[in-house]
Amino acid sequence: MSQCLNPDCLHSNPKGCQFCQKCGSKLRLVERYYAKSILGQGGFGRTFLAVDDFKPSKPPCVIKQFLPQAQGTATLEKAAQLFDQEAQRLELLGKHSQIPELLAYFTADNRQYLIQEFIEGDTLQ
Ligand SMILES: [Zn+2]
Repeated sequence: MSQCLNPDCLHSNPKGCQFCQKCGSKLRLVERYYAKSILGQGGFGRTFLAVDDFKPSKPPCVIKQFLPQAQGTATLEKAAQLFDQEAQRLELLGKHSQIPELLAYFTADNRQYLIQEFIEGDTLQ
């Protein structure tokens, strides 16, 4: 399955699709990450279980998509700053084994994204 990342669509596409069958969005984020399913959703955005297609073993990873619900430029800027701070903090914390490592942080299609190492809940010590 390839999960569409378009917040207004979120269609689940069959494996192997390059573009969403419903809205036509590119399914591969920055040509590298494929979302497979939605992990969760909060006030700041949505998280997806994804695959890193640039590594030989195609390891799982987590896409965090920043989707602030707040209205107004000042609030949005503040929210974007917080997301940026989270990225910086995660990069520092990722040196420790019990916190998922920050793999990438970028803006694509005018949205901020974090890519984190996927750690299954029960494998955490
Ligand atoms: Zn779509």
